[in-house]
Amino acid sequence: MVSGPSGAGKDTLVEGLLRRRPALKYSVSATTRTRRPDDVEGVDYFFVSRDEFERRAQHDEFLEWRQYNGNLYGTPRAFVERTLNDGYDLIMKPEVNGALAVKRTFPQATLIFIVPDRLSHLESRLAGRRTESTEEIAGRLSIAREEMKSIPNFDYLVINAERTLDGGELPAVDDLEAILKAERFRIHHFDEGTFKKLEQS
Ligand code: 5GP
Repeated sequence: MVSGPSGAGKDTLVEGLLRRRPALKYSVSATTRTRRPDDVEGVDYFFVSRDEFERRAQHDEFLEWRQYNGNLYGTPRAFVERTLNDGYDLIMKPEVNGALAVKRTFPQATLIFIVPDRLSHLESRLAGRRTESTEEIAGRLSIAREEMKSIPNFDYLVINAERTLDGGELPAVDDLEAILKAERFRIHHFDEGTFKKLEQS
């Protein structure tokens, strides 16, 4: 799970990782927030009304859901369960409290916290993308300050430095890929059969 303050560049990093690792599945969340011009329904989010979101929440259709800056965001449970049962690696991008809630349900989940190389970049990035009002940006920055306090509860910290002058891929995509690779070697990914075979070999 990739989490961290708004404006840290999570979306771009995850897009970069998914381009490199097509077998990785992304969990598309549902949200009540207004669609931004670049948002694609079913790819970035499932955009739903507040009534519809609440109906789904009542029917326990979300693995977790949270209010963030006045809007609701939730992880659809069925997709996550099906994808994990099918044996795929899954990536999702909930805000910090949602990430910690998912970790309680799936203790093997890996929590990655993303920060920009300078916190002052959060404000300039949010202002630069021109998708939020001044009040919305202020709300996001105040949530960011709270979110930073949760860093010690995460497994990894990735510092997302600005793009190099040649405009290539963000260097932190390499870091995310390295984490993904290392996680595959965790003992809990191996089954008893593998250990038995090793013992008998
Ligand atoms: P944005 O409006 O910028 O797309 O997202 C706002 C925040 O909500 C971001 O921190 C994003 O990671 C988080 N978010 C997106 N989907 C979910 C979700 O399903 N659950 C939770 N808890 N947070 C989410």
